[in-house]
Amino acid sequence: MIPAQFDYVRPPNIGEALRILKDREGEAKVLSGGYSLIPLLKLRLAEPGLLVDIRDLDGLDRIVETDDDLRIGARATHRKLHESALIRDRYPLFHDAAGGIGDPQVRNWGTIGGSVAHADPSSDWPAVLLATMATLVCRSAAGERTIAARSFFLDTFVTAIEPTEILTEIRIPRPNGRAGGAYEKIERRAGDFATAGAAVAVQLGSDGRIARAGVGLTAVAETPFAATDAEAVLAGGAPSEELYRRAGDAAAAQSRPMSDSHGPAEYKQAMAAEMTVRALRRAVARARREG
Ligand SMILES: Cc1cc2nc3c(=O)[nH]c(=O)nc-3n(C[C@H](O)[C@H](O)[C@H](O)COP(=O)(O)OP(=O)(O)OC[C@H]3O[C@@H](n4cnc5c(N)ncnc54)[C@H](O)[C@@H]3O)c2cc1C
Repeated sequence: MIPAQFDYVRPPNIGEALRILKDREGEAKVLSGGYSLIPLLKLRLAEPGLLVDIRDLDGLDRIVETDDDLRIGARATHRKLHESALIRDRYPLFHDAAGGIGDPQVRNWGTIGGSVAHADPSSDWPAVLLATMATLVCRSAAGERTIAARSFFLDTFVTAIEPTEILTEIRIPRPNGRAGGAYEKIERRAGDFATAGAAVAVQLGSDGRIARAGVGLTAVAETPFAATDAEAVLAGGAPSEELYRRAGDAAAAQSRPMSDSHGPAEYKQAMAAEMTVRALRRAVARARREG
């Protein structure tokens, strides 16, 4: 199929982009990498009257670390994130996730902001942002607001972004001390969306116990979610295979997968547990500087 007719603009700056989104509210849609939106247009599952291409907006693809946080521009591509030395060395959880998204073409064009704004229930970035307690910065003509990742993913393909807003940046609290993270995903074939995926971020105390853990799951519910029951199991625990298994079981019990072409619900639930265990092993090893 070919898309329904639409207008296209490529504003030179964010002020202009926001003005257009406000003036054409209800018919305008932001276009970033196009790797989710264009297929929807071709299937006529989306028929916006206007596409607002944000590729020329300055500074929207920056990846910088401040004293407080890591700041990732919404237009940073999966590839840019995967190739960043800062991400590889300091935020390996993000490096893991970026390298497993789609294929090289998808990673060249697709952006982290587009992925989280699209909110596919099987996409990888949402789980990572849930595990790391990220916040998302949205701008409209009226100003800027921040939204916690844990309040952002409302339902399948539904987020807290308003149609007149542009997601500009994602902020991740800077890990301190003995912290580590990892992302584990099982897919049917290389390049597929996840059958189940788990993102884990841990902080170890001076006694070697898990002071704090964040666990985000994808592909095993109507939207990616924080596995808070698993986090509660982990808090204060001494790292061990037994603890990881209990956390994995708690994560699986909190999941609500549906049977589909990726596999039956029971299998996905088992994989949610297994991915959580594997991610925990690697996250703790990284926190101990063993991984
Ligand atoms: C073959 C294939 C394989 C894939 N495999 C995976 C995979 O394994 N894992 C995975 O996670 N994803 C996968 N994807 C999806 C891919 O990651 C997309 O890049 C991503 O979902 C959308 O990013 P985009 O920049 O292309 O956004 P677009 O397609 O341009 O936009 C997507 C949606 O987000 C909105 N939007 C985009 N940017 C903003 C912004 N800054 N502010 C507000 N709204 C915005 C748009 O209006 C639109 O509704 C795959 C896609 C394809 C085609």
